[in-house]
Amino acid sequence: MLARTVLGSVELDPARAVLPHEHLVIDYNQKEGRASPPLKETEDACVEALQELPSLGIQAIVDCTPPGYGRDLAFLRQVSSRSGVHIIASTGTFCEQWSPQPSWAQKASVQELVDAFTAEIDRGCGVIKVATSHGTASDNEIKALKAAALTHRGTGVPIVSHTTGSLGLEQVLMYEELGVELSKVLISHVCADEEPIDYALAIARRGAYVGLDRIGHASHPDKHWISIIQRFLDEGLENKVLLSHDSVQTFAGPDAIAGHTFRNIRHLPTTFHKNATCAGITENTLRQLTVHNPLRWLEPNRVS
Ligand SMILES: [Zn+2]
Repeated sequence: MLARTVLGSVELDPARAVLPHEHLVIDYNQKEGRASPPLKETEDACVEALQELPSLGIQAIVDCTPPGYGRDLAFLRQVSSRSGVHIIASTGTFCEQWSPQPSWAQKASVQELVDAFTAEIDRGCGVIKVATSHGTASDNEIKALKAAALTHRGTGVPIVSHTTGSLGLEQVLMYEELGVELSKVLISHVCADEEPIDYALAIARRGAYVGLDRIGHASHPDKHWISIIQRFLDEGLENKVLLSHDSVQTFAGPDAIAGHTFRNIRHLPTTFHKNATCAGITENTLRQLTVHNPLRWLEPNRVS
């Protein structure tokens, strides 16, 4: 399938994995225009982190940092061409739990956000990132979710929708009401806090992808994620699970997030893979979760 990467439209290999929720650089200073482009040493560190991935079967990552939070398309292009890993970049914006959205996003109407997101897609972004806060959604967050839905309907580009502990199901119902095809929606960070498994299953049953995408973080051992995968297998819903690390190589931003950052983008294809197969998850299932599912999510559902 053709994916919209930072280096243009690329034919992705149907047999190689994709990490659907990672970050290279997050820098909140960019929100008010104070971030300088990433340093050469940051670029070198990101290339080093990524360059082993192809030998571990991974062809692409989705960088889920939206504009204003340190995302730099020229930087991502450089890291992609040097590392040999395809990078799919995000437009959109983030939640206001730790810090207000960039002022341009706060001031924009829904239609102005749609125009901005669509222009970014024309410039090379391949997913739309939006978010709600912990247990609540601010007016700006709801506006951005609506804009994501309308942008998706206009472009076919998939949505990655951040959650903190809850509201995944509410997000899904809102997208559905706004005419989004739920097979193009990834609800991120499901069961990364204390959400019950039934919450995760309900999101999948409705038709959206469930992101078990904090794998490797100290908050939960691999067995936490493996037991959730086993439950999805029991329910026949393994075609709705996506796996990733939510890793970040360089972070500048609120302390509340800084304390939880995780860098090892090789954990999934190495340690986790071993732990999952030892626990009885088959290679076929792992291939479905890491290859077929993310490729299906990423495939635009209309030509734009
Ligand atoms: Zn993230």
